[in-house]
Amino acid sequence: MSSIIEVKQLQKSFGSLDVLKQITFEVKPGEVVAVIGPSGSGKSTMLRSLVHLEEITGGSIFIHGKTLAENGKYAGSAAIRDITATMGMVFQHFNLFPHLTVRGNLELAPRTLKRESSQVIAARSTELLTKVGLADKADVYPSMLSGGQKQRVAIARALMLNPDILLFDEPTSALDPELTGEVLRVIRQLAEENMTMIIVTHEMNFARDVADRVFFMDNGEIAESGTPEQIFGNPQLERTRTFLNQE
Ligand code: ADP
Ligand code: MG
Repeated sequence: MSSIIEVKQLQKSFGSLDVLKQITFEVKPGEVVAVIGPSGSGKSTMLRSLVHLEEITGGSIFIHGKTLAENGKYAGSAAIRDITATMGMVFQHFNLFPHLTVRGNLELAPRTLKRESSQVIAARSTELLTKVGLADKADVYPSMLSGGQKQRVAIARALMLNPDILLFDEPTSALDPELTGEVLRVIRQLAEENMTMIIVTHEMNFARDVADRVFFMDNGEIAESGTPEQIFGNPQLERTRTFLNQE
């Protein structure tokens, strides 16, 4: 089976700070990858590079075999748009538009693209809000919602363009503990539906349960990767063990 994401020797530096050091990995369609590692190890920068929220300084990224970036340089804007439109991203702080209703948040991107009729877009936003358990919140503003509800709206919004890859950057880190479960349930359901996902998370039990593979990032590298059984049950590196003991 060919890879849906292929990253080769990805490098990113901010000035003299090397944040990503020659990262290479592949993700197969339907795979769920959990990324764990200490703060500052480059997890967010790696995810953001995959959707061109960062400019990289070296290496290549192929999505569906198409070139998003090669030898440190991104493709042209039309290609970037086409490729990243197949990818959704969910952030730690939800990033909802406060001046738009829940439905407005979901429908903004597809309405801007103008590829589908308003009726088709509205039907999908209703369907996706139902899927995340928020059909009754379509007409309220984000400020009326709990953190868990906001994050479920953000996930529904990320699904509006029918992506086949979803990237999550610490989706539950800003939530009170009692609200993380409702968000993790939605992500778990997407995993069961074979969505391809990369999930940066501090929820070790969740990573162990849901992920097919785990990457331990440290100091700008994927220091160790393997099945959840390998990484959590029998980590090979001292620094992986140290990190897991602290979590
Ligand atoms: P993580 O998500 O694992 O906590 P990040 O990818 O956010 O790590 O950050 C990795 C490193 O890059 C950190 O040292 C961080 O301070 C640095 N960094 C991230 N974004 C910027 C930026 N825009 N400018 C300068 N340094 C940055
Ligand atoms: Mg981060």
